[in-house]
Amino acid sequence: MNIYGFTFSMLEKYLLNKEIKTSKVAFIAKSLYRYPILSFDDMNDVNKEIKSMLNTNFEISLLETAEICESEDSIKVLFKLPDSNVIEAVLMRQNYGNTLCISTQVGCNMGCSFCQSGRQKKTRNLETWEMTAQVVSIQKKLSIKISNVVLMGMGEPFDNYDNVMNFISILNNPYMLALGKNHISVSTCGIVPKIYDYISHPDCCLLAVSLHAPDDALRSKIMPINKVYPVNELMKAIDAYTSAVNKKVFLEYVMIHEVNDTVECALELANLIKDRRCHVNLIPYNETQNTDFSKSSHDSIMKFYDILKKNDIPVTMRKVFGSSSNAACGQLRANYKSNYQAPSALST
Ligand code: SF4
Repeated sequence: MNIYGFTFSMLEKYLLNKEIKTSKVAFIAKSLYRYPILSFDDMNDVNKEIKSMLNTNFEISLLETAEICESEDSIKVLFKLPDSNVIEAVLMRQNYGNTLCISTQVGCNMGCSFCQSGRQKKTRNLETWEMTAQVVSIQKKLSIKISNVVLMGMGEPFDNYDNVMNFISILNNPYMLALGKNHISVSTCGIVPKIYDYISHPDCCLLAVSLHAPDDALRSKIMPINKVYPVNELMKAIDAYTSAVNKKVFLEYVMIHEVNDTVECALELANLIKDRRCHVNLIPYNETQNTDFSKSSHDSIMKFYDILKKNDIPVTMRKVFGSSSNAACGQLRANYKSNYQAPSALST
């Protein structure tokens, strides 16, 4: 059992059975997350009996780094999992802190036609500790503090709901990663029943929805999930979130040349969300090797942006991090797999 997969309450329950007081559980949690310890023996404020019990019952291992790819504003890290699968996390340096985009699955089954991860199919869900370890490993390796985590990397977080919510509890807990709810964002392609589960969860944080099209005909063409949960059902779930949680929803909209970047699409989108608490993020499409899509021109993006603005829709244009070096979702992993079929010289 890897200790980085335990939420505070799971740890508390487990250790109470071993007759360890709640006050000590807080010390153990702080030691795991605040100080760069690599072994239970390095823990402060914990006696040797407790260290020995932890050594007997838990592992404390993090993730092996297979490759690091650095650009001016981002660092992409490819991690090798214990079963030799690989996942990636992207650190973005922003003026308000370090944001880490993490993976939640190996591959993804949602099949969005413009997405590199969707082409790689899901191999398996990540365990909770494998998500926590992406954050802790990068903090330790780069000696930095991560201030925001977005679940927007490879995988659909709500297709791995229980492990993801345990991970979010670890991100949120004041004795663990202590980020706070306004610094954690889950991005879904629109698994509607799980949005309702998320709304009623005590650790519900920010919500981003990958919308990418304003109507069923176009959205179903590029995002198969829309055939199961169409736009009107998704909008009802978004409304439920904004009224229950009292926060806006971020709508991700990747701008694809002559697919979803037309004036008609912009007007339709404005009309769809004009009475909703949504904020649109326009994302320039990051061209990958294997797709038929290309990025919108700057003019098309500006026209789209202006139409939303004129209709009083809050909108920003997202900066594309590290576009010079394999930044696209799932791309580093894809390159790694094709270049290193039998990796033998990995650095850690
Ligand atoms: S966009 Fe997200 S949900 Fe769609 S295939 Fe890619 S990783 Fe999966």
